[in-house]
Amino acid sequence: MIARFIEKLIDFFFGCHHSRYSFPVTIRGGDRPRAAALTGTYVACLDCGREFPYDWQEMRVISSKAERRQYVASLSAKHAA
Ligand SMILES: [Zn+2]
Repeated sequence: MIARFIEKLIDFFFGCHHSRYSFPVTIRGGDRPRAAALTGTYVACLDCGREFPYDWQEMRVISSKAERRQYVASLSAKHAA
């Protein structure tokens, strides 16, 4: 009960910390949700419902802008090789 309250308080002051995700969903072709545009796969935060791109190769969620940039950079490096 108290832990729940503190969790809510943290969400209120710092925003959701996205610690629990749904199983990754892969979209093939057609209309991709914005979160899936980068990798074709996305996960949704079970707490706030936000969607994030998911990298199957690295098995991780790309949740920050810096990680997004890194991902795009590694993609273009692969294409160049
Ligand atoms: Zn969240």
